[in-house]
Amino acid sequence: MKIIFKSVLLLGGRLFCMIANILEAKKILSSVVSVTNGSSKSFSLINYLFLLFLSNALNAQAINRVEPPFWYVGMNNPTVQLLVYGENIGDFEPQIKNKNVTLEKYQSVENNNYLFIDLIIKENAKPCKFNILFKNGNKTTIKKEYELKPRNVNPVKQTSFSSKDVIYLITPDRFANGNTQNDEITGLKEGLNRKEDFGRHGGDIQGIIDHLDYIKEMGFTAIWLNPILENDQPKWSYHGYSTTDYYKVDPRFGTNEDYLTLIKKAKEKGLGVIMDIIVNHCGDEHWWMKDLPTSDWVNYQDEPYQETNHRKFSLLDPYAAPSDRKVMTEGWFVPTMPDLNQRNELMNTYLIQNSIWWIEYANLYGIRQDTYSYPFREFMTEWTCAIANEYPNFNIVGEEWVNDASIIAYWQEGKQNKDGYTSCLPSLMDFPTTLLLAEALKEEEVWGKGLIRLYENLGKDFIYANPENLVIFPDNHDMSRIFTQVNEDYDLYKMALTYILTMRGIPQIYYGTEILMHNRGTESHGVIRTDFPGGWQGDAQNTKTQKGLKTQQIEAQNWLKNLINWRNNKTVIHTGKLMHYEPQKGVYVYFRYNETETVMVVLNKNNEPTELNLDRFKLNLGNNKTAFDVFNQKEIELNESIILPAKAPAIFEILN
Ligand code: CA
Repeated sequence: MKIIFKSVLLLGGRLFCMIANILEAKKILSSVVSVTNGSSKSFSLINYLFLLFLSNALNAQAINRVEPPFWYVGMNNPTVQLLVYGENIGDFEPQIKNKNVTLEKYQSVENNNYLFIDLIIKENAKPCKFNILFKNGNKTTIKKEYELKPRNVNPVKQTSFSSKDVIYLITPDRFANGNTQNDEITGLKEGLNRKEDFGRHGGDIQGIIDHLDYIKEMGFTAIWLNPILENDQPKWSYHGYSTTDYYKVDPRFGTNEDYLTLIKKAKEKGLGVIMDIIVNHCGDEHWWMKDLPTSDWVNYQDEPYQETNHRKFSLLDPYAAPSDRKVMTEGWFVPTMPDLNQRNELMNTYLIQNSIWWIEYANLYGIRQDTYSYPFREFMTEWTCAIANEYPNFNIVGEEWVNDASIIAYWQEGKQNKDGYTSCLPSLMDFPTTLLLAEALKEEEVWGKGLIRLYENLGKDFIYANPENLVIFPDNHDMSRIFTQVNEDYDLYKMALTYILTMRGIPQIYYGTEILMHNRGTESHGVIRTDFPGGWQGDAQNTKTQKGLKTQQIEAQNWLKNLINWRNNKTVIHTGKLMHYEPQKGVYVYFRYNETETVMVVLNKNNEPTELNLDRFKLNLGNNKTAFDVFNQKEIELNESIILPAKAPAIFEILN
């Protein structure tokens, strides 16, 4: 009763405002026209302008959103479904007269403020604009222009991230503030607060553009940005994982056009941009949360709050209780992130189209999909395969945060699962390696501990359909930085980075790793995502110019830059085969090799120089007697043994 009363008041208020505006406009028009025209002519003109104004006012009022905002001709899938949002739009019948497009069907839903329209784009359709007429009996006609654009992407020539790349992960709010004008945006709930580690710090797209030369010089070839879409949340909005508009870059980062500019400029430098997308949940301040289309738009919609149990294993477990699986998939990630119901066909289509729209609009280099196992798994198959259908060369990496290879492997394309589950997901984050790496390096070398754990972990690659396409990383935005993980031991840091950059897979490195950024004494995400030195006016340190950096930071930056740039030219590391030898006496040796090149990588954990007998490695070394020591930039002789420097990684290119 209370709600109905409130609605009547609201509607009454809106009508009053509209009528007041119209009367005011008519008054102004009358005065303008009566000054410029004779009185008899002016009457009809006033009425014409009034009617025009009235029709525009109705148009403006009736349709608030059409999503996707435009579409493309020449897609493999000729259909597109438009979500139309406007007051009582469900009462209207859409009509289209255009030779390029057919209106297949339309449907209203429980909430009359939504209408879903299915279009079929004809095979030889030309890019065009056309009107959709919305008719409400004989009463009102609303006109809405829609556009079909020419394609941006040639799917045959499209390139996407692969093992030849090294990905630089950036948290945009924390990287560089290239435009202080967008730090505070009127109308958005959260403003600037650089003092708090959970506040917005002002970093933006322009800041990243300003650092493209730096990123390129460091050797990175791809950039993965934490999500950049609008997060109009009152708190914690900086991290970007609470989408409130799926088609709009957050204005505090810049505009959609700024994002395109970044991608274009990055591409000119040989850098691809990977978009972080979340189909599992949105932010609770998403515009549709205030006026949901259906009673099943999100999971646990009208039920008491239910959080996910994070029991990812339950999805694969043959004995799992259905109730546990349900809570895993349908429970909310946190109270501010409503869990989207991808079993609703309209939601399903909305999310698939949204991802395809961004790939096409921004000519993306790849997608990183957040919380990969949390949506309905049959939807993830549909989502990945719909993208593969349009873009067969496009790479997507899924986040599945578990330390068990068997779970990760389950989701990858090509994996033969006992329950018959398949998907088109090409890549996953190699969490088992990440979660083990620092521990294996820190542990004492005793039976079953230390390097042997890395060795055995790698051996589990037999379980993956395509281990070469996993993304490998020492850390990311959600966990302790690698320098902190290894207790700020610079030698172990170098071993960890050497491993990541010479191992199979696609390396990813978090911003600031190059200058030993750390989160000493805390696991706070806000601290892990500390501002990149030099990204803000007046910063005491500047990573780009090395001003104010400590000696060891400069050393690390130069060392990593050399290593990444070396890797960029080494096909044998990108696509070569891999053979490793059981670690012995604190030394782990593996080889990357192809028909023309052999590279030997050695991790020596001993605190003193160590003699390494080469007999064991004859199969890989052959009769070659010289090698190039990459870190020390000199040739060495391969006799019966070599002396390894104390507690250090080593890379040897085998020469002849
Ligand atoms: Ca800014």
